[in-house]
Amino acid sequence: MKRFITNIEIPKKWYNVLPDLPKPLDPPLNPQTGKPLSPEDLSPLFPKALIEQEVSQERWIEIPEEVLNIYSLWRPTPLYRAFGLEKALDTPARIYYKYEGASPAGSHKPNTAVAQAYYNYKEGIKRLTTETGAGQWGSALAFATKFFGLKCTVYMVKVSYHQKPYRRTMMEVWGAEVFPSPSDKTKTGKAILEKDPDNPGSLGIAISEAVEDAVSSPDTHYSLGSVLNHVLLHQTVIGLEAKEQLKLLNEYPDVVIGCCGGGSNLGGIALPFYADKANGKNVRLMAVEPKACPTLTKGIFAYDFGDTAKMTPLMRMYTLGHNFVPPSIHAGGLRYHGDAPIISLLVKEKIMEAVAYSQTEVFEAALLFARTEGFIPAPETSHAIKAVIDEATKAKEEKKEKVILFNFSGHGLLDLSAYDAYLRGELKDYELSEEEIKKSLSEIEKLAIR
Ligand SMILES: *Cc1c(COP(=O)(O)O)cnc(C)c1O
Repeated sequence: MKRFITNIEIPKKWYNVLPDLPKPLDPPLNPQTGKPLSPEDLSPLFPKALIEQEVSQERWIEIPEEVLNIYSLWRPTPLYRAFGLEKALDTPARIYYKYEGASPAGSHKPNTAVAQAYYNYKEGIKRLTTETGAGQWGSALAFATKFFGLKCTVYMVKVSYHQKPYRRTMMEVWGAEVFPSPSDKTKTGKAILEKDPDNPGSLGIAISEAVEDAVSSPDTHYSLGSVLNHVLLHQTVIGLEAKEQLKLLNEYPDVVIGCCGGGSNLGGIALPFYADKANGKNVRLMAVEPKACPTLTKGIFAYDFGDTAKMTPLMRMYTLGHNFVPPSIHAGGLRYHGDAPIISLLVKEKIMEAVAYSQTEVFEAALLFARTEGFIPAPETSHAIKAVIDEATKAKEEKKEKVILFNFSGHGLLDLSAYDAYLRGELKDYELSEEEIKKSLSEIEKLAIR
């Protein structure tokens, strides 16, 4: 009864889902002209290689040797069989999870951070800017840039900067400069501080600052940790490895589950299985989100901005509106108002299912997992775990053998304050009222581009 396997090779290619989608994605639109975006629109922000990957129709894209070399620090990640959880649930289901907490930053995010740092370095870029909320993405990029001698500037939402100092420290340990946002480093930040010196910041403001910094500095680009096609592409190493590992066990999943913020770790585990589904294989794919930010289950499929400041291109996706500010649940990584266009299309076409849970039931699931499997999951990851538990319980009721695969997107060792709040009974559930959702959606309806 071996509990995990690692003995496979790291994939040499990423899987690009674009040529296999049921229909082409609607093009992103230039926010000024409302016309489809041209590659030149993106070149002040991203290197050519990534702009090409964003629209590539090649099914397989070679992973550069230098990227593979850094991946080999923690990849292939182990695939675990959740014997402890299965036993606790007394389920006939066999549960497997891919442990992405094994990376130095503790989540799946370095899979794309390393690739993005590499392509920027290859094109002569010297510095990357980005935004971060609780710090998972900022720390992944800080870690990745170090390997290519790039500088890294992170605009961290001010409340998190002060409330969650440990990820900020991680970023600084890896040599990044971290500014609380709004900062006095950009025009956007200065203008906000002038009016409101105590502004607590938001992801929308931090994005605007990071983009402004990149556009106005030579040799500097901007980097995004989720949502975009090239980010999901890089994350497919997760699902490709899982497939090989399951093959060694003569297993194939009936259902593949991932939590969904912007959709990158979910895309990473699910898209390689979608490839089989597109060829007729019977496999369910499932996105799990918080009830406090129910983009896929309560949002609409429409063109919307990626940020509050309306600086980013318009993308067609499930969204709650670019002005939507979700309640401050502890799964900070799942608080984005939109979703990856790829994931959105699959949900829209009913190829992928979506479910939503509230915070306390998610932490209850997290505790059961930690007490049966040992690993303490990130609050984001715990959403996937709650869905797994429900699927395994259903399998028991139906007396059905079922193979469940999920992505363990990251560990929760820097989220212990959230566990503390749960254990003290201080955690609240937030369910949005229909009115709140309607109000936020009316903003996009005004854009009138469906
Ligand atoms: C950032 C993050 C997420 C959410 O981002 P996706 O792009 O949806 O994957 C989920 N889990 C962890 C651990 C994260 O750090």
